[in-house]
Amino acid sequence: MMTIRRLLIAMLGVTMHLSSAHAGTGYHGFSIDQSARQLAPDVMASLNAQLDIVEAVGLPPAVLAALKATPIIVDPDLRGNPGIFAVRGGAGAVYVQPIVFAAHKPILLHELLHAYHFGTLGLNRPEIVQTFQRTRDGNRFPAQFKSSHFLENGKEFFAVTSTLYLFGDIQQPPFSCNALAKLDPDYLDFLAAQFGAHTCHAGVAN
Ligand SMILES: [Zn+2]
Repeated sequence: MMTIRRLLIAMLGVTMHLSSAHAGTGYHGFSIDQSARQLAPDVMASLNAQLDIVEAVGLPPAVLAALKATPIIVDPDLRGNPGIFAVRGGAGAVYVQPIVFAAHKPILLHELLHAYHFGTLGLNRPEIVQTFQRTRDGNRFPAQFKSSHFLENGKEFFAVTSTLYLFGDIQQPPFSCNALAKLDPDYLDFLAAQFGAHTCHAGVAN
């Protein structure tokens, strides 16, 4: 009897632990809304690793606080990208598929930078709009980059270049952190004003 009672207490403890883990849908101050789908442990771990990247790039406290204030919402109906920034009902949030995120790719950093652009900087910032247009219409990058994500619009231009600035090399054009040197010095000053000084990490850029 004693053994069974201990077993039941142990099982109850596990159940309570799991439910409290689900209820406490936060990680280091980020909020993760799992109301549409509870994340499996391996999925949760990969999402937390994504947020570790965001915390590790050395953002100024106010910027990091703004990113942490962005709701992250699990959306089982999301298709295509593992995560997106979207404005639904007037409110900006990052929506994520309940899937294991690739490690070491700054996916959520990119999406949270969209949120920062939308919510803090404002989408019409001339520093971003003008530099995007000049870069798109100029010939600083190879012709085959014309159709790539970062030259699609001002929002992607900001998110991709900021990710290069903060994280380093990425797996989409313009790939190398050193490519930032091709952009207007005024724009790099603008990024520095937002994110602080940076150097491309030695051995990462090429
Ligand atoms: Zn994007």
